[in-house]
Amino acid sequence: MTVKTNYHMHTTFCDGKNTPEQVVQEALARGFTTIGFSSHSMYPFSSDWHISCRDHLAYVKEIKRLKEAYSDKIEIMLGYEADFVEGVCCPIPSQYPDELKPEYLIGAVHYVPWSKGYFGVDTFFDKAREQIKRVFNGDVKKAVQEYFACEREMLKAGDFQILAHCDLVKIQNSSKAPYPLFDESEGWYKDSIKETVDAIAKSGVCVEINTGAMARGKLDVPYPSLEMLELLHERNVPVTLSSDAHSTEHLDFAFDQAVQLAQKAGYSEFMYFSGGRSLMQKF
Ligand SMILES: [Zn+2]
Ligand SMILES: [Zn+2]
Repeated sequence: MTVKTNYHMHTTFCDGKNTPEQVVQEALARGFTTIGFSSHSMYPFSSDWHISCRDHLAYVKEIKRLKEAYSDKIEIMLGYEADFVEGVCCPIPSQYPDELKPEYLIGAVHYVPWSKGYFGVDTFFDKAREQIKRVFNGDVKKAVQEYFACEREMLKAGDFQILAHCDLVKIQNSSKAPYPLFDESEGWYKDSIKETVDAIAKSGVCVEINTGAMARGKLDVPYPSLEMLELLHERNVPVTLSSDAHSTEHLDFAFDQAVQLAQKAGYSEFMYFSGGRSLMQKF
């Protein structure tokens, strides 16, 4: 049986368009063998795009119900895409009470906090530029370096299986942005990438090749860049394919391109979870 997985999917419990059951049905139609739900979570806090604290239990119950109901057709896993904001929330299972415990966590940095506020890494382009101006006195290099520093801090402090979109900040270089925020070929940027790859390798997490920004029409390549992926491959960091889907039509968006990128970087297999174990499968 060919293994087809995606552990990064959002539903109406957070900012996704479809219910978990609609996602399961579409996943079956598209030949998935294992899927994982990863609602945005910053428990015990929330926001307008994170699952609300009071909905956590209903989410857990619904995913467990589906897991049971579809157990002969597809493996379903309960997870969260858990935010890291230093001093506020961290992707660790101990953050959740027993009844809300996930089977896996995706660790994600979406916010870079600083003394005068924060930079929302995936925020709309104009707003992100305004935040960098206000919070980092317009120092783009500092803002980008701090983003990667937050990621390294999360790798140290967190306890999670998958690292989300590990060079998310490059979304600000989208062709849809008013101007590219920074130059990815500059030495300081490459240094940040290298330092972060070292931290990733040391932590033992799996990195996702994430096509989410492609699905939203903001980038024409996945996260991470080929250059970062090559370094990850050199350090034997395992990868998984994810589409960061916020609607059923994107469940396997651009997976062909993600596989091509992985192979170009030297990868011949990807990691998946089954029956509580991590296994490898050839592309
Ligand atoms: Zn994310
Ligand atoms: Zn996501």
